[in-house]
Amino acid sequence: MSSELSYVHPTATSAWGTYLSQVDRVIPYLGPLARWSETLKRPKRALIVDVPIELDDGTIAHYEGYRVQHNLSRGPGKGGVRYHPDVTLEEVMALSAWMTVKCAAVNLPYGGAKGGIRVDPCQLSRKELERLTRRYTSEIGIVIGPQQDIPAPDVNTNAEIMAWMMDTYSINSGATATGVVTGKPIHLGGSLGRVKATGRGVFVTGREAARRTGLDLRGARVAVQGFGNVGSVAAELFAEAGAVVVAVQDHTGTVFNGSGLDLAALVPIARKDGVAAFAGGEHIAEEAFWDVEADILIPAALEGQVTAERARRITAKLVLEGANGPTVPEADDILAGRGVLVVPDVICNAGGVTVSYFEWVQDFSSYFWDEDEINVRLDRIMVNALNHIWDTADRHGIGLRTATFAVACERILAARQERGLYP
Ligand code: NAD
Repeated sequence: MSSELSYVHPTATSAWGTYLSQVDRVIPYLGPLARWSETLKRPKRALIVDVPIELDDGTIAHYEGYRVQHNLSRGPGKGGVRYHPDVTLEEVMALSAWMTVKCAAVNLPYGGAKGGIRVDPCQLSRKELERLTRRYTSEIGIVIGPQQDIPAPDVNTNAEIMAWMMDTYSINSGATATGVVTGKPIHLGGSLGRVKATGRGVFVTGREAARRTGLDLRGARVAVQGFGNVGSVAAELFAEAGAVVVAVQDHTGTVFNGSGLDLAALVPIARKDGVAAFAGGEHIAEEAFWDVEADILIPAALEGQVTAERARRITAKLVLEGANGPTVPEADDILAGRGVLVVPDVICNAGGVTVSYFEWVQDFSSYFWDEDEINVRLDRIMVNALNHIWDTADRHGIGLRTATFAVACERILAARQERGLYP
């Protein structure tokens, strides 16, 4: 039996290759359920769609879109939609698989899915972006739905794009279906707390990891790579807790201030023009970010950023993976060898999907909770999940990533086994 798929060519550092090696590491801890482990290495379903749109100048452009449902054993598919010029089927497969693991790690009744379009959205006008989103939604309409697969925002997608997706799906299906996507605007069935949920989850898991390891957040130096939805919110919450955010990097540049960056000034500028436009710090070379003296490092941009070479230079004692798949397997081993604690993506950034779950539940019941209730429930779910994972890690003497995979994969494969194979 082979786990090689003819349609992808993973490498040791590619996203799917990284995921496969993470699965290999957990198999020894799965007991008799290991019999089903091949399930984890194959997406259940992968849809590739052509997305043709008319540009504002009258020409026709074609984009490649994807929706991958990695595993649906525990419930409908759940996972974001990414617009980025580097999106590939293989990347979307890995992101969908991490969603399967993440949803099971926090015990949400979902499988894992992900979508994406290979496009640079910065090159499109707002109207072109709307046409792109609507056509993509229509094309993947055969596999998504409130009970089938529920998209959400990811890199370069937001509440407005979710509103267009919801509207398009609703028109095509003949009934308003708010539950088809999460991360919607509040007045269209969105949930309070959703925008900040992923960054908040990064903070909550970081706060707990710091408490357990005796790291005082007051005065702790924090470096953040990726200053979008996840990175900026996490940075703000750490600053509120007394930490000092000393370095921030986005795709426009890297800004450093040893006495702490003024986030109230930085956030609006970064949102509009990127951190390169911020005057309140020293602008350092992209690669120098990884040498910054910090106690906590938050990679919150894209996959594969923590390479083996960078892992040898990182000064932080705690790495909080806001991004999906930021650390390649070799770097994971180097960090472990150097005594750096990594809170892995599959638990660290699970706050977003947790509040997406709250949104979906609220949409079905048409009864909406206040923000305090959302944040209290989010905190409780994240802390309980992390405690269970930490206990598992201690019991087996393994790292938090493999422990998270152990907790999650046991749930996924138990569901697989209980449902049985059809026919
Ligand atoms: P975003 O589009 O809001 O922000 C992405 C940030 O990364 C931007 O600041 C961008 O400039 C920066 N970036 C892009 N390429 C970079 C590079 N080469 N070097 C440095 N910075 C770079 O996206 P987001 O929603 O904040 O997502 C960030 C990460 O978090 C992704 O890995 C995503 O999959 C993950 N994530 C997001 C959510 C969510 O709810 N949004 C949930 C879970 C995980």
